[in-house]
Amino acid sequence: MLNFEFKNPTKILFGKGEIAKISNKIPKDAKILMIYGGGSIKNNGVYDQVKDALKEHDLHEFGGIPANPEYEVLVSALHFIKENNINYLLAVGGGSVIDGVKFLSAAANYNGEPWEILKKPVRTFEGEGMPFGTILTLPATGSEMNSGYVISRRETNEKLSSGGPGLFPQFSVLDPEVIRSIPKHQIANGIADAYTHVLEQYMTAPSSADLQERIAESILISLQNAAPKVMSDEFDYDAAGNFMWCCTMALNGLIQKGVITDWAVHAMGHELTAYYGIDHARTLAVVAPSHYRYNFDAKKGKLAQYAERVWGITEGSIDEKAEQAIVKLEEFFHSLQIQTKLSDYTQDFAGTAERVEKAFTERNWLGLGENKNLTPQDAFKIVEMSY
Ligand code: NAP
Ligand code: FE
Repeated sequence: MLNFEFKNPTKILFGKGEIAKISNKIPKDAKILMIYGGGSIKNNGVYDQVKDALKEHDLHEFGGIPANPEYEVLVSALHFIKENNINYLLAVGGGSVIDGVKFLSAAANYNGEPWEILKKPVRTFEGEGMPFGTILTLPATGSEMNSGYVISRRETNEKLSSGGPGLFPQFSVLDPEVIRSIPKHQIANGIADAYTHVLEQYMTAPSSADLQERIAESILISLQNAAPKVMSDEFDYDAAGNFMWCCTMALNGLIQKGVITDWAVHAMGHELTAYYGIDHARTLAVVAPSHYRYNFDAKKGKLAQYAERVWGITEGSIDEKAEQAIVKLEEFFHSLQIQTKLSDYTQDFAGTAERVEKAFTERNWLGLGENKNLTPQDAFKIVEMSY
């Protein structure tokens, strides 16, 4: 097992009715900006619950953060924060709103053009951000319990990530009841995103980190178990809760400690969102199978372990089990009505692989993946395989 440091300071408030408790998590004299997306919180009662919980506080609001949080909109929010002397941020939404708030938390305490934070060669924000909490309305990203974020800039077709130890939420509320109003395709996205987060930290080579590997496998199995229940029309509170907690556990740092991690699927997937606006999770389903086939030799030991422990496949050689693992993964995405080829999403795909290769080269991303040896030319081939 590799050396590691682990600290996750986010307090989780899990369960029905927990939104009502946020008042005593935020200082009484705070000037709060509640930030939300396109309005789903006004239709499902979450907005009213937050307003009610914070009726004794000085509460301001800024809505309209789009999916794949857009830089331009966030710059307007930043002006609002500065003009109104806001000193506490509250994200109410999914990963896009939470990521947007993390960027604002960093930008509020940064002197200079905010986009510089995302363009730094080592994409880490060293400072302490403005304090913030979150109320999660869409389980998927794990952003509610980590310190990373991803921001899009339409003007330049970029989607870049950053983060830093000063950007963890102080608290996050996980009330599974919010899942009642999420459209099915969005629930499917959440499952696929969280599932791929686990794979990015797991599908490398077998390691000696037995606990991390078995926790990762448990999250995958629990997501598989919850999937048909949360995708059905009947609301199941316990399945919703399991799904929600799996998404948080998938990316709160625990399973990545002491092991090598990949993240090349996300890097390539972000490009597909930046070019075509394909939902984040669906880009991962497009890239992951090709990535595992292309890097088969480096990953086959772990693919076979995944086939055995997660899917119960005990017959066959390592190679056969590993190939079966990729087929199982594709079938799992399909069971969520998520397609796994780029051509399922756009007919305009010619030249995508060249574009990804060029973007990675220009950004000096010359060695991605767990072994830092996936070149822009490899990315070209993987993306081309995913057409
Ligand atoms: P999202 O973009 O936050 O939300 C997608 C849609 O779901 C929005 O239209 C939103 O509507 C709607 N929605 C949210 N909660 C709802 C509810 N309870 N009922 C009905 N509709 C609801 O989706 P996401 O998958 O959570 O976030 C995706 C973003 O996170 C991407 O930009 C991705 O790159 C990023 N990401 C971040 C991390 C990280 O660790 N920070 C990891 C992976 C991905 P409204 O706008 O109207 O609310
Ligand atoms: Fe993701």
